[in-house]
Amino acid sequence: MCLCLFTLALGSAEAKWHKQNATIMGTNIYVEVWAENETQGQLALKTALAEMERINQLMSPYISSSELSLINEQAGKTPFVISDEMFELLDKAVKISELTKGAFDITFASVGYLYNYKEGQRPDDETIDSLLNAIDYKHIQLNDKERTVYFLNDKVKIDLGGIAKGHAVDNAISLLERMGILNALVTAGGDTRLLGDRRGKPWIVGIRDPRNRDKQAVLLPMQDSAMSTSGDYERYFEEDGQRYHHILSPKTGKSTYDVQSVSIIGPSSTFNDALSTAVFVMGLREGLGLINRIDNYDAVVMDNKRKMHYSTGLQQ
Ligand code: ADP
Ligand code: MG
Repeated sequence: MCLCLFTLALGSAEAKWHKQNATIMGTNIYVEVWAENETQGQLALKTALAEMERINQLMSPYISSSELSLINEQAGKTPFVISDEMFELLDKAVKISELTKGAFDITFASVGYLYNYKEGQRPDDETIDSLLNAIDYKHIQLNDKERTVYFLNDKVKIDLGGIAKGHAVDNAISLLERMGILNALVTAGGDTRLLGDRRGKPWIVGIRDPRNRDKQAVLLPMQDSAMSTSGDYERYFEEDGQRYHHILSPKTGKSTYDVQSVSIIGPSSTFNDALSTAVFVMGLREGLGLINRIDNYDAVVMDNKRKMHYSTGLQQ
């Protein structure tokens, strides 16, 4: 009895926050966990970051051996067998395309891969037009029994940049939960998910001012929830006063300009991530309308005049 109390006391004396930053998937990763001791804390950070790197190896378009790259190489020619994890994520992506009437569409990449934001390169109108009919999620055929993906149009390319980080955050949080962690924050770029609270107080999650890197436009107290932000400021270049950014309308193959920033708050980072991209494409009215119809999901939108708008769930 005595010994037991003694170890308990020792355990709590060692309990503290453990934090780590990293760059994975071309973005800033931040993990913060409350752990009972040093060993658990270090293991938790390592586990979360290793999961991010595993997903990067699987889903990066920049790694030629990634499963995503192999799909893009093969699935336009013949049905291609994929992992269960990839199958389920592609299935979710297609369902979100249906839900958003095609605003979210991973085949945007059929044109999207011709943009290079770092180099300031974009395809000309003629090239875009010649590839536009390759953008259509209905070209993606998933065969549940054979576990294959097949593209009905051989010019189709897919990219998971609008959903993979959310998936990685969800996975990292599940792994932490399974280790017995009760309080954690995992962020990958604009995707954040929280486990529990910040021990007695809420986590404070910020939405960045799209035109001022160092300023937060909104701060939200949150716990046991998640938020993803899509903005026109993450990857872009300017040409003749026009901003060419990384969120593309599947209808035009070009950047959309109705809003500057969209944040989605809901239980799943995977859905938040995809929905924030979708609402960005749909624009203020249609996008907010959609979120208002989905239970448990809310939105904060900054329009192109920098006015803030909130879904009905946040207005009480
Ligand atoms: P990030 O966190 O990288 O800013 P977002 O969630 O804002 O990502 O999504 C932007 C990314 O989604 C782009 O970099 C691109 O990879 C992908 N994307 C762009 N347009 C679309 C679209 N219409 N449907 C699905 N994915 C898209
Ligand atoms: Mg997104």
